Amino acid sequence: MLNIGILALQGDFEKHGAVIERLGHRPLFVRRAEELRGLVGLILPGGESTTFLHLIEKLQLRQPLIDFAGRWPVFGTCAGLIVLARSNDNLPFPPFGLIDLEVTRNAYGRQINSFIARVELKSQLMTRQIEAVFIRAPKIVSMGREVVPYAWLGEEVVMAGNNRILAATFHPELTSDTTIHQFFIDAYILPAISLSER
Ligand code: GLN
Repeated sequence: MLNIGILALQGDFEKHGAVIERLGHRPLFVRRAEELRGLVGLILPGGESTTFLHLIEKLQLRQPLIDFAGRWPVFGTCAGLIVLARSNDNLPFPPFGLIDLEVTRNAYGRQINSFIARVELKSQLMTRQIEAVFIRAPKIVSMGREVVPYAWLGEEVVMAGNNRILAATFHPELTSDTTIHQFFIDAYILPAISLSER
């Protein structure tokens, strides 16, 4: 059973916790830097990136989160992705830039700001389609060379990762399908644990 943290300042943290439990692991809700101790991975949920960045600053979590991400995998979904990446519009504090992705926030416009669509997953561990929920989602507009794409909505990349950070523009906690969380565990957390044991 793995101890997986979920940043619980705002947004959709409880549902991520429920998925981690369903997969047989222990979700721990993180609100203070000390609570990062003993975790082998962390999820930054969806919500509102401006609010996240304000709270992270206010609670002095910025450096502890960046330090944690230097050691253990972090998965950002929707607003969580924005916090981990780079944004081409203004945010109250700079996002972390831990993954070389540039995003445009709220990129699907007012008419269709929330929708469910099938996305195509492709990696060494899985090739399949899943249903994905997009809520005022960002779009990935550019990607560094070291970033690996894992999921597509048509031509657009909607999930990608580097060696330590996984990021999705959709909300994998809102469907009953646990594929994405399982992928975070199998492709990111388990390899990080075996590296740390060497
Ligand atoms: N639109 C939000 C933002 O810019 C993200 C929405 C979400 O996380 N569902 O932060």
